[in-house]
Amino acid sequence: MRVSVIGAGYLGAVHAAAMASIGHDVVAVDIDAARIARLQAGETPFHEPGFEPLLRTGLNSGRLRFTTDLSEVATARVHFIAVGTPQVAGGNAADLSYVDAAVTDLLPHLGAGALVVGKSTVPVGTAARLAELVEGAGRGAGLAWNPEFLREGYAVADTLKPDRLVYGVRDAPGAAVSAAVAEQLLDEVYAPIVASGTPKVVTDTATAELVKVAANAFLATKISFINAMSEIAEVTGADVTTLADAIGYDERIGRRFLNAGVGFGGGCLPKDIRAFTARAEELGRGESVAFLKEVDAINLRRRDRVVELVLDSLGQRRYTGRVAVLGVTFKPDSDDIRDSPALDVVVRLRGLGVDVVVTDPRGLDNARAMHPQLTYVATAEEALADVDVAVLVTEWRDYRELDPVAMARLAGAAPTIIDGRNVLQPAAWRAAGWTYRGLGRP
Ligand code: NAD
Repeated sequence: MRVSVIGAGYLGAVHAAAMASIGHDVVAVDIDAARIARLQAGETPFHEPGFEPLLRTGLNSGRLRFTTDLSEVATARVHFIAVGTPQVAGGNAADLSYVDAAVTDLLPHLGAGALVVGKSTVPVGTAARLAELVEGAGRGAGLAWNPEFLREGYAVADTLKPDRLVYGVRDAPGAAVSAAVAEQLLDEVYAPIVASGTPKVVTDTATAELVKVAANAFLATKISFINAMSEIAEVTGADVTTLADAIGYDERIGRRFLNAGVGFGGGCLPKDIRAFTARAEELGRGESVAFLKEVDAINLRRRDRVVELVLDSLGQRRYTGRVAVLGVTFKPDSDDIRDSPALDVVVRLRGLGVDVVVTDPRGLDNARAMHPQLTYVATAEEALADVDVAVLVTEWRDYRELDPVAMARLAGAAPTIIDGRNVLQPAAWRAAGWTYRGLGRP
């Protein structure tokens, strides 16, 4: 099938390459000419494991191309909308200007029977509004919403082997593309995924939009729940990791997403729970998700706690001691620094006058572009040279597997390691001469 993808970011570029790998003829469009040039040359504009070979195979097959010219999508039957929906400046709501512009600009290029398929995460009600725009354009095209659940770091696998497919389709009277036809088109697009028995939920657009934000709200709540327990553990001498293991054995609770630490960040969870809160307030149901404000507050307090631990560990050496932060991306296996807890910690420490260096396997270019004032070094070894306090904030495998004995030789006298993700072995680090401090661990 001829397919277009509008917006070639973390979601769109991977989606486009994945659709080409299924066998579709894909054109991906973005307004960022530099990004398009790199993608068309087979270079990945961001770090995502497994994406580069998928991209190159797609380009070499002739089934994948990237352009800034929206008119090239005209022959596509299905148009995926994958542009950003960031937080508005100065508010909590989602900025829908990119989605609105993408759909409006697409209208003159829609053929009869074409289906616009939203993948971006949007506030409930957006699809119905955009559907009226698409149906009202008189081109015989329709709209569906098909939210995306991929995780950065696993984007390729999550796109080609998702946990589930959610189709939000419309059965509006007189709609040019009926719900049944929309479902058929999406089944054709995802043919091998559907054939492999992936659960499929076919519903209305409002439910589909809500599924996505509800999933993120639940995950954020689970993380903040264990981080709230971490705060209690800190004042009682309890160990939150043991607590998580113990409650996690209960199948109704489960152990995943119960890792206490510096909390969540990235381009999705924080802005999605804020946008959900804002949308619920608009709908007169603010109280229903008011707890998400607490989830957000708990999450942000963990960053304060890490900064507090660094200052406490420095003590008298606040302006003379050397601090190294390991990790700058919001999670390992990504170069994404959007709303990164690690970057936030570094920026705050620098703002407090602390001598801090930061390193990361993949995120330094992005971090440097956004915060050129910070001090960056290429490796953990350089960062840890003569260090007084080291802080692990992003749990890259390289950092989880650091040898505490070798690192102690590089560090200054009596160094402290702050384990912002509770992923290190306290006993091994203590035995090597470090003072170990975790979050919610004695
Ligand atoms: P991103 O910022 O990486 O990519 C968005 C891209 O859209 C950019 O390259 C931008 O230049 C382009 N764009 C903006 N306006 C455009 C227009 N009018 N025409 C063409 N291109 C345009 O964002 P992302 O992380 O890929 O997220 C995209 C959407 O997917 C968001 O709604 C996000 O919440 C959702 N989502 C993201 C992820 C993820 O892990 N990144 C997962 C699930 C859902």
